[in-house]
Amino acid sequence: MSNEPSAQTLTVRAGLESDEQYGAVVPPLHLSSTFTYEGYGKPRKYDYTRTANPTRDALAEALAELEGGVGATVTSTGMAAITLVCQLVDPGDLVIAPNDCYGGTFRLLTGFARRGLFRLELIDQTDAAELDRVLAQNPRLVWVETPTNPLLRIVDLRKLSRRLLDSDALLAVDNTFLSPVLQRPIEFGADLVVHSTTKYLNGHSDVVGGAVVATTAELHEQMQYWANAIGLTGAPFDSFLTLRGLRTLHARMRLHEENAAALADLAVGHAAVRRVYYPGLHDHPGHTVAKRQQRGFGGMLSLELAGREPAARAFLEALKYFSLAESLGGVESLASHPWSMTHGVVDEDSKRTAGLCPGLIRLSAGIEATADLVADVEHALDCALDAVAVAPDGFSALA
Ligand SMILES: *Cc1c(COP(=O)(O)O)cnc(C)c1O
Repeated sequence: MSNEPSAQTLTVRAGLESDEQYGAVVPPLHLSSTFTYEGYGKPRKYDYTRTANPTRDALAEALAELEGGVGATVTSTGMAAITLVCQLVDPGDLVIAPNDCYGGTFRLLTGFARRGLFRLELIDQTDAAELDRVLAQNPRLVWVETPTNPLLRIVDLRKLSRRLLDSDALLAVDNTFLSPVLQRPIEFGADLVVHSTTKYLNGHSDVVGGAVVATTAELHEQMQYWANAIGLTGAPFDSFLTLRGLRTLHARMRLHEENAAALADLAVGHAAVRRVYYPGLHDHPGHTVAKRQQRGFGGMLSLELAGREPAARAFLEALKYFSLAESLGGVESLASHPWSMTHGVVDEDSKRTAGLCPGLIRLSAGIEATADLVADVEHALDCALDAVAVAPDGFSALA
């Protein structure tokens, strides 16, 4: 018998039976902001919740174990986790990030760079020549999202981490889109793994949170130090809910993926669709790498509609089982329009450079019945086709 439990077992059992007072099976929720000293000069394990809290620690330990790191720092949001990683960089240092990264990450990194906190290069990290150019400049931090958002580009983590071996660069991977059930970046050489736990890890769209998993004690200590110093640690109640959500992560990821794959197959054959972005498709440029470094293709896909914005609008308005909302990774299906929503903060030139267009739709496949979602999207795609057929400028866009 192997002594390493599988992720499926870990998500269910992490932190169970840790209550010594009553033998509660589930770790209790400790809301207290402060903890007594046992006596004069005798501090206990916990003293103040900003610094550390037992409920938050239960979640942190589960996440560290799932990702294969030495420790995790649980933060109040995903953006707080990214802010935390930025503390490892000094003025003058170079940060490299994908040009189609999460819109909030784009806003934070460009904002910090503008204030001189570091230098920033945004590139298509799947472009070998571009990567050569920026890696030659000796970066301090290489920020990676794989798959990227919303174009689902795949970055070869092993290849990238090998290239960074002889340098001081830290490799940080935002693993929000897949969760540790489908991808463990540390196995491929990442130094830090970042999550917006708001998404798949919690999975029920009722908590905003984040985490940074570190691979060395030193990095973990730095993350803990800055999380306490800045004050961006996660709330105990949020940690409790996120740990509860985590219990079903494995089962949810299977259903998310099943539904996303069915939707991708449907979209590939539909006349309203110009292009389908899903790493599970054989002709996706990152398919082979995704197969190697992922344990599945995930629940996210994007569709470029032939009729541009009018088609996107008709499609989104026709959907019944997809809510028009930002975010992803919850049990319910969501549809979004990256051009005007998640990437609304990105200027138009940067959006075009990153490959975004007004006809692009991003879908977060939930865990509803596959047949219901497929019928819903098929109907909405038919409506998209009808909409451009009657709008003269839309019609020319189809040609
Ligand atoms: C949502 C998201 C974030 C930001 O997380 P919040 O919890 O919203 O602060 C960062 N990266 C990715 C890939 C995300 O999807």
